[in-house]
Amino acid sequence: MNRALNFNAGPAALPEAVLKEAEKNWLDFNGTGMAVMELSHRSKEYQAVHDKSISLLKKLLSIPDDYEVLFIQGGASLQFSMVPMNLLSKGQTAQYVLSGSWSEKALKEANKIGKTFIAASSKDQKYRFIPEYNEDGDLDNAAYLHITSNNTIYGTQWHSFPSNEKTPLIADMSSDILSRPLDMSNFDLIYAGAQKNLGPSGVTVVIIRKELLEKSSDELPSMLNYNTYAKNNSLYNTPPTLAIYLLTLVLEWADKEGGLEQIEKMNEEKAKILYDVIDESDGFYLGHALKDSRSRMNVTFNLHNEEASKDFLHQAKEAGFVGLGGHRSIGGCRASIYNAVPAEHVQKLAEFMKAFKNKN
Ligand SMILES: *Cc1c(COP(=O)(O)O)cnc(C)c1O
Repeated sequence: MNRALNFNAGPAALPEAVLKEAEKNWLDFNGTGMAVMELSHRSKEYQAVHDKSISLLKKLLSIPDDYEVLFIQGGASLQFSMVPMNLLSKGQTAQYVLSGSWSEKALKEANKIGKTFIAASSKDQKYRFIPEYNEDGDLDNAAYLHITSNNTIYGTQWHSFPSNEKTPLIADMSSDILSRPLDMSNFDLIYAGAQKNLGPSGVTVVIIRKELLEKSSDELPSMLNYNTYAKNNSLYNTPPTLAIYLLTLVLEWADKEGGLEQIEKMNEEKAKILYDVIDESDGFYLGHALKDSRSRMNVTFNLHNEEASKDFLHQAKEAGFVGLGGHRSIGGCRASIYNAVPAEHVQKLAEFMKAFKNKN
């Protein structure tokens, strides 16, 4: 069977080794005679999967002991609401850096909960870069500063982060978690839906500094309170057991690949292959992101007009490339090259892009 040349933005490609391992255990997980999703979430067999997932996340992301790892459903989109519900108290302001559509959505939900402030924005420049954030700004009343570490739709990425000395730093890392080493101590909360770099959709990872848990009000509905998850090891109710099992396999795969330093190196190499084609195309391919804000996960580009982009996408599809259309909100082209996308597939795309240019 031929695996597709999958450049989907999310849900996205998973490591083939992970899918094979899951297939091997599909009918009979660890000699139980049951599939993973048939196990009780209170059984010791499932408990082992659950705990392994948390301990591997801690290991790979070097998460210090004063943080909790939580598994929540509802996607990153629910975190847009849960973050302010739990952490934005009356009289405080939540600061948002606008760097793309996802940060706009996060801000929109926070506005329903309390007072917000736009700390920086590149919206009027079509989100082509990560906006300059002034660390000396007035943060006296800030509950937190919220950023989006990788802008999946516009193809930009933070390459250095603001410090969290003055105010807690919160990051939506849905599309680049596990793509590079992380200094967790610089963050107070990060969240990520799994379907880009971590596994299938259905589970969202939240990593929160324990101290912050004290801020949540007891009045919150239980399922919307981080403490409910923290106190119960994310087993207050039934967690998405299959998604967490697959997450464990992805984490084991990442560990075997050599951890995040190694993965970062591979990601740099893959991204360079495509950006070189863009930069050496004499303007045939136009990168959307400014160079120093370029994402290593989502490479966004256009051809000289929408017609040419459409032709490119049509021919790429004929040639077997999947998922190269830009997000429906901005059009153009986008190659998502998450951890699991093999370098060979990226190389094939680069060759296709060069050949397409020569033909036109
Ligand atoms: C995909 C994505 C989201 C939305 O995730 P859902 O799981 O669909 O809610 C939010 N933020 C970023 C950065 C994303 O890439």
